[in-house]
Amino acid sequence: MRAYTERIREAAKRLLTEKRVDVVIGFRKGTIPLVNEPFLVKDPKDADQLYWDGNCGVNLANYLAKRTDRVAVVAKGCDTRNIVVHLLEFQIKREQLYILGAPCHGMLDRRKIAGELKGKEPTFAEESDGTVKISGREFEVTLDRKEFLQENCSICIHRNPVLYDELVGELVEEQQNVDRYVDIREIEALLPADRWQYFSKLVEPCIRCYACRNACPACYCPTCFVDESRPQWVGKSLDKTDTLTFHFLRAYHLGGRCTDCGSCERACPVGIKVRKFTKKLEKDIRELYGYETGLSVDERPPLDTYRPGDPEAFIK
Ligand code: SF4
Ligand code: SF4
Ligand code: SF4
Repeated sequence: MRAYTERIREAAKRLLTEKRVDVVIGFRKGTIPLVNEPFLVKDPKDADQLYWDGNCGVNLANYLAKRTDRVAVVAKGCDTRNIVVHLLEFQIKREQLYILGAPCHGMLDRRKIAGELKGKEPTFAEESDGTVKISGREFEVTLDRKEFLQENCSICIHRNPVLYDELVGELVEEQQNVDRYVDIREIEALLPADRWQYFSKLVEPCIRCYACRNACPACYCPTCFVDESRPQWVGKSLDKTDTLTFHFLRAYHLGGRCTDCGSCERACPVGIKVRKFTKKLEKDIRELYGYETGLSVDERPPLDTYRPGDPEAFIK
């Protein structure tokens, strides 16, 4: 991870000094262990604050929509796929971007780690050779990092950047024979009433803070449908129907656009597994149209194109 950090810092200094970009978007260490924060560098002198480890789970494509300056961005596999979505949706131009591709080893799940620490407060964390060493007052543990990855990362099959100008690390071996939809098939197998119950229960703790939406690079509409007041499509209270409407509609808006980057789930303050909605759409789009989001700038997503042979059972 140290090697990534050094290469990111070196690239940032070079790109800013040579005035090839106006800003570099990466991460710096957060104020608490296991949480890094997005960091925008405009002055090469600040580049040494840039940092990389398994706590860079925020999807930095979220900072790109509608920018007009020249940007270098550090991007994991999923981030680059969301950049492809932005390019396909004309949110930014390729010539504005310099992509520092970061082949990804998976991001850490700080909630899983907190569970393992059983209330003990970490004050320091460091990764090396597949382990995470965490210490605090009167304790120190060494964890096997692959046991503490975010759930989406443990089933990720596109860890390498799909689009980049330079790499900040060696390409990684992609995971093979991953069954991404075990949980979704279980939900599909439920009777309709039980499925309704399942989703109603899933979102019961939702406080409608919209952190999931705000963390999502694909949610960039200037006015989200939940904030619209003329007409008001969805009520703004914690009414159950309104809450479910928000989640279902948001999932539909993400059909063929979600990369399962996990930013939404990571951002939810009450730990709702919001990817259960978007993964179902991902599975359907893959099965119906053979399409995976953001793998190519040359293929338009199925929901904005038409082919005579497209499945149409849903309109019969
Ligand atoms: S989803 Fe894949 S590319 Fe994205 S952070 Fe997880 S392992 Fe890395
Ligand atoms: S819905 Fe969640 S997993 Fe999908 S692209 Fe948005 S933040 Fe990433
Ligand atoms: S982040 Fe969590 S609590 Fe907030 S709106 Fe999304 S699901 Fe609800």
